[in-house]
Amino acid sequence: MARYIGPVCRLCRREGMKLYLKGERCYGPKCAVSDEKKRNFPPGQHGQARKPKIVGYGLQLREKQKTKRYFGLLEGQFRNIFEKASRSKGITGEVMLQMLEKRLDNVAFRIGFSTSRAGARQVVRHGHLLVNGKKVNIPSYQVRPGDVVSVRDKSKANPAILSSRDATAHLPSPTWLEVDRENLKATIASNPKREELVQIQVNEQLIVELYSK
Ligand code: SF4
Repeated sequence: MARYIGPVCRLCRREGMKLYLKGERCYGPKCAVSDEKKRNFPPGQHGQARKPKIVGYGLQLREKQKTKRYFGLLEGQFRNIFEKASRSKGITGEVMLQMLEKRLDNVAFRIGFSTSRAGARQVVRHGHLLVNGKKVNIPSYQVRPGDVVSVRDKSKANPAILSSRDATAHLPSPTWLEVDRENLKATIASNPKREELVQIQVNEQLIVELYSK
C-alpha cells in the first residue's frame, strides 16, 4: 500500500501543531514547531505572509487533512474508513475515530513498540506482531476488545522494539489498553472512549460535514 514519503515536519507546520510523526524528536527542542525552533509558520514561499482567516470549507478541509496525516493515511484509505463508519451504528465521527484508533499500527504505537506511527506500521509489516497468538502483518487490521497483541518470540530481542519500549516508558498508556511492557504485550480492554481517541484536538464533525457534501 502506498504511503507518504515526503518531509513530515512540513505537515505539522502546515497544520500549525505537533502531529507527532517523528518519534522522539517530537518531544525535544529540535521539533520544527517548538518555540525554540521558531519555524512555527506554514511551509512554502508565502509561509510567513499574513495568515488569511480560514472559515467554512477551509476549516473542514484542514480538520480532515490534520486527522489523516496524524494517523499516517492517504486520502483513499481515510475515505474508506469514513465510508465504513458512516455505514456503522453510532455517531459517524466518533466511530470513524474509533476505527482509526483500533488499527493495528496505531495500537502498536500506543503500546510503545515504536516511537512513531510510521515506525509501528513497519513493525507490523515486518511480521513482528501476533494477535491472539497468530501473526498479523496488516497495518489496517482492526483489533477488538479481548484481543491480545504481542511481539512474537523471535522478535522479542529486536533492538528497535526494545529501545522504543524504553523510550516511550514515560508516556501514559490509554486506559482501553492493558499494557504489559515487560512481556511486550497488551490486551484490548474495551473500545476506546471519545476522550481517549487522539492526542491532538480534532473536531470530527467538520470531517463528517466535508464528506457529506
Ligand atoms: Fe517534526 Fe515531530 Fe515536531 Fe511534527 S511534532 S514538526 S513531526 S518533530
